[in-house]
Amino acid sequence: MNLDRQIHRVFGLEKSSPPVRGPPLPVSDMSLAFKGYPMLRQAEVFLSVPALERWRMEHTLAFSQECCVCLRAAQRFLPVHAAPGWMSLFRRKQLLAGVPHCEEHGRQDEARLLVQVNPWSEWVCQIALIGMNEAFLLKTRELNQAGDMAPPWKAFPGYEPMSSGWRQGNGEYWFAHVWSPFWQRLSPEERQQYNQRWAAPPDWHSRLMDLP
Ligand SMILES: [Zn+2]
Repeated sequence: MNLDRQIHRVFGLEKSSPPVRGPPLPVSDMSLAFKGYPMLRQAEVFLSVPALERWRMEHTLAFSQECCVCLRAAQRFLPVHAAPGWMSLFRRKQLLAGVPHCEEHGRQDEARLLVQVNPWSEWVCQIALIGMNEAFLLKTRELNQAGDMAPPWKAFPGYEPMSSGWRQGNGEYWFAHVWSPFWQRLSPEERQQYNQRWAAPPDWHSRLMDLP
């Protein structure tokens, strides 16, 4: 099922044609206006280790207890299902549980959120979310990226510290957008503790301690 049909099913929105250009709105890099949905926002979340454990156990994410559409207090918690296909007409796969909604926005039996789950490795899980409220998506990203990120030697096993895998493809993307921001937030003491906690191999230990 393509994205347009999924958006129509979940949000009841039609693609605006032509896609909205118009006067410059306050530009958000999360806007889906370029795909014809100025009402929608998208966010990419890379699960931290605590979020990954929650995901494996319960297939859910950490959410603030606010409606994903309007941020009012949450009253109902709804699932996201996989897009219906003819194989799954009778039993639709649940992708994500427990998305908070207020009374008004939670009347249907499905969350007003689209989710795509992309496991890149045992320790790297990328989750793409599409929703209507940018603040809710940002909060969800913050909550699920809190705590340790898995170290590079677990995230991409087989990549040595100087591997060319860190300069291309998923390895490069993850190192630049997930690992580096995480590592830069740690103090020198926290970096030492992290390397002990994760039993850093000697070559990785020295490589990481050299990073800015
Ligand atoms: Zn609401």
